[in-house]
Amino acid sequence: MSTEVLPQQGTREDTDVRPDLSTGDGDHERFAHYVLKDKIVDAAVNGTPVMALCGKVWVPSRDPKRFPVCPDCKRIYESLPEND
Ligand SMILES: [Zn+2]
Repeated sequence: MSTEVLPQQGTREDTDVRPDLSTGDGDHERFAHYVLKDKIVDAAVNGTPVMALCGKVWVPSRDPKRFPVCPDCKRIYESLPEND
């Protein structure tokens, strides 16, 4: 698995809180979901919606580190075979 991460775009920081393309129950607003890193990068660059391990689809627009990890994602992630 690659650990390479593209540098954040310094000229465009998503510090404002704005509506996501949320059509669901809003759980993704309160949890940090596991998403493939390359998908996150694509989302950051292109605004492409991503699907979390738990099946949540949304456009990540904020730093998820402040949120607790989604329990569903965590369970799925921990059940995955080691794949490094
Ligand atoms: Zn999740």
